Amino acid sequence: MNKRDSEALAARLTGVYHYTLAASEEDADVVLLNTCSVRDGADQKAIGKMQMLIGQARVHHRQCIFGFLGCMAQAQGERLMTLLPGLNLVLGTHRYHLLGDYLSELVQGKQSRIVDCGGVKECPPFFDEHLMAANTAAEEEDKDGAAHLSPTAYVNIMHGCNQHCTYCIVPETRGHEFSRSIDGIVKECRSLADSGVKEITLLGQIVTSFGRFDIPVSEDGRSGFVQLLDAIAEIDGLERIRFTAPHPKGYGKDLVEAYGRIPKLCESAHIPVQSGSDRILKLMHRGYTAERFLEIIDQLREVQPTIGLATDIIVGFPGETEEDFQATVDLVRRVHFDNVFLFKYSPRQNTPAAVMPDQIPQEVKEDRHARLLQVVNELAQASYEQKVGATVEVLVEGVSRRNVNRLQGRSRCNKIVVFEGPAEWVGTIRKFKVTRAGQYSLYGEPV
Ligand code: SAH
Ligand code: SF4
Repeated sequence: MNKRDSEALAARLTGVYHYTLAASEEDADVVLLNTCSVRDGADQKAIGKMQMLIGQARVHHRQCIFGFLGCMAQAQGERLMTLLPGLNLVLGTHRYHLLGDYLSELVQGKQSRIVDCGGVKECPPFFDEHLMAANTAAEEEDKDGAAHLSPTAYVNIMHGCNQHCTYCIVPETRGHEFSRSIDGIVKECRSLADSGVKEITLLGQIVTSFGRFDIPVSEDGRSGFVQLLDAIAEIDGLERIRFTAPHPKGYGKDLVEAYGRIPKLCESAHIPVQSGSDRILKLMHRGYTAERFLEIIDQLREVQPTIGLATDIIVGFPGETEEDFQATVDLVRRVHFDNVFLFKYSPRQNTPAAVMPDQIPQEVKEDRHARLLQVVNELAQASYEQKVGATVEVLVEGVSRRNVNRLQGRSRCNKIVVFEGPAEWVGTIRKFKVTRAGQYSLYGEPV
């Protein structure tokens, strides 16, 4: 989500306010860090990075404006100014439309520091349309018409979350759920497809709740979210649709069926389970049981047997016993995920879990994390190796991250595939035979 926000803000600053993107932090006159606050580690990393940037600018006697945006700015506000002398701007998640004006004031020296975290509970309805208008302006400025350089793009479909999982800071930093209109989203996706985008990932904190307050369920039982998928699938030129993050409670019959019915919907799903223990799931306020989660997985595999499956898991939630932890290990083994994002529970301010009894000692969290990670890696490796010999369809995304002489893309089930080929392949969909499996990647030869 932050990546998408950063792209939109950069487009607005370059398109409307005539900034240019600097080649590196050292060359920049304005440095903005768009931050995440979901875990303490991310907070610490952002603060460390900002400290280093401000320090470097001082050493080299460089005049530079430094700002924090995003969830961490929203949650910490004024505190960041006290913590980091030399910081000029702290802007909350719902005040992005003011960024350009604030920067003008700072650059012109009318102000030296601005903190604006506004109200977060009411999301201004113009938020996205505002940023979109900026994108469009930036695209129009682009003389080659090559508005979007990558064949893949992210599109925000909603903001905020009302689920209030007891460990999660998102409802505090991003506010109430608010969905964009299907028409607005389709228009944005169509314009991306027209500029060469082949794959769109729909973004939101709880995308499966999209439209639940304002789009009635259709006569054939499709939720607002599935209606949106159907509408996007109609767009010519667009070949692939993905989404993140869904909530297990959103996997009704309509969404499961959509995987069989909509060819553009990639057979891959990242469904956060968080724990395999019903007791912990209840304490987390997740709203489902391990059994229900497994039922969803079985239903999805019935419709798409080769579906790629990923999840998020938190270990060391308050009160988690060894037995609870083992239930999570069992669930991971039973599902055999292709990828698991594993987190150690991190207490966040103003969340119910932070003051729950039986907080788990750090060394126990570390130990459980290490044990589960080993299981996760073994299972993932097996699932990657199973693909050797198979033919996969890949959208070529660009140069391989590890080796500039190779290209890489992703299979429909969301596995990275690395291969040799000419640069003209970027943006095309091609078939590859998998010759070997690496760690969380596949190597292929064109078919
Ligand atoms: N809205 C999404 C993603 C939320 S943040 C969802 O509901 O899944 C991404 C992941 O970070 C979560 O899925 C969770 O596994 C992890 N996470 C969130 N808060 C956390 C916390 N306080 N400590 C540790 N992990 C956390
Ligand atoms: Fe946070 Fe996701 Fe739960 Fe919403 S559904 S409260 S974003 S973890």
